[in-house]
Amino acid sequence: MHTFEFIRPADSRAAVATAAQAKTAQQGADVRFVGGGTTLLDLMKLNVETPARVLDINRLPLDKIEVLRDGGLKIGATVRNSDLAHHATVQQDYAVLSQALLAGASAQLRNMATTAGNLLQRTRCMYFRDTAMPCNKREPGTGCPAITGANRTLAVLGTSENCIATNPSDMCVAMAALEATIHIQGSKGTRAIPIGDFHLLPGSTPNRETVLEPGDLITHVTLPPPLAGSKQVYLKLRDRASYEFALASAAIVITVAGGKVTRARVALGGVGTKPWRSPEAESALVGKPADAANFRKAAEAALRDAKPQSENGFKIELAKRCLTHALQMATTG
Ligand SMILES: Cc1cc2nc3c(=O)[nH]c(=O)nc-3n(C[C@H](O)[C@H](O)[C@H](O)COP(=O)(O)OP(=O)(O)OC[C@H]3O[C@@H](n4cnc5c(N)ncnc54)[C@H](O)[C@@H]3O)c2cc1C
Ligand code: SF4
Repeated sequence: MHTFEFIRPADSRAAVATAAQAKTAQQGADVRFVGGGTTLLDLMKLNVETPARVLDINRLPLDKIEVLRDGGLKIGATVRNSDLAHHATVQQDYAVLSQALLAGASAQLRNMATTAGNLLQRTRCMYFRDTAMPCNKREPGTGCPAITGANRTLAVLGTSENCIATNPSDMCVAMAALEATIHIQGSKGTRAIPIGDFHLLPGSTPNRETVLEPGDLITHVTLPPPLAGSKQVYLKLRDRASYEFALASAAIVITVAGGKVTRARVALGGVGTKPWRSPEAESALVGKPADAANFRKAAEAALRDAKPQSENGFKIELAKRCLTHALQMATTG
């Protein structure tokens, strides 16, 4: 691993001021915050990330989970994935988030991984992680070998001719269905970004994955108050039962009254280049009877624009079945 300076900023202002000196907050940033380190240190060992300065934010007071006055939830940036998953309010009112977190990684990793770090985890595309290979995300303009190569685990939604990498997070899929907001302290002040606007599609700049600018520190995430009577499910399909990323997953937050769907929030994982909220599935569900035929129609709508690559066409039907089954679980449980 290359040499770097390890800094413990005294407070969040100092952290932001130092990080604001970076050339970019995207791929190749020369200053990086570190939370649990389970993404960053891996990539540093592989020389995919080579920051000159690493800012340890673990001593900043960003590790609380608080119920807000409006009934919503505030989750600090350094709250560990395991603490969040096992928090009583999360288990009771945001079950989809608890389930998604517990479906991710391993117990040891979840004990280290933080909320902000999970939002910013990187793709598992093998070419991205191998500096001997070209990769538009790592080195813009070098090409995308995955399009003609190993793409079984890569995305079918939101891809471009420049990158087809999957966003691997489980947590983000649940947060998309829960309509989370990400709060940032930057060099020009604070701002709040809905999760749907936080991650970017690859387009012609796959090296830009989020809206973050140099200096931007994620301080916390908020969730809106839970909806009375809503049912929630996270279903993850993968090659083995644990310690594996999703081939397809679905997060559902749904309300049914008199046998009909009155409100639905649907997001997919494992198939999109970003955590994939599906307004198409949601509008196919609302006002319709909560039955298998309508669930399948919603799944068809969610995957209508899916584009298969040479090895991952199976994901389209898998994601449809995942979504249909998750809707059945949510409405019959
Ligand atoms: C073997 C293995 C299996 C895994 N399996 C799964 C899985 O099945 N599902 C899943 O969802 N995930 C999985 N993961 C990924 C894991 O969830 C992430 O590595 C973890 O969530 C990242 O959190 P962290 O705190 O360790 O991030 P870090 O490595 O500390 O940081 C990640 C990135 O976020 C930036 N960052 C951190 N905090 C902030 C902040 N407050 N503001 C701005 N930038 C910040 C860092 O600079 C870095 O770029 C797996 C990881 C491994 C190693
Ligand atoms: S899919 Fe994206 S991350 Fe993977 S090789 Fe292509 S450009 Fe790189």
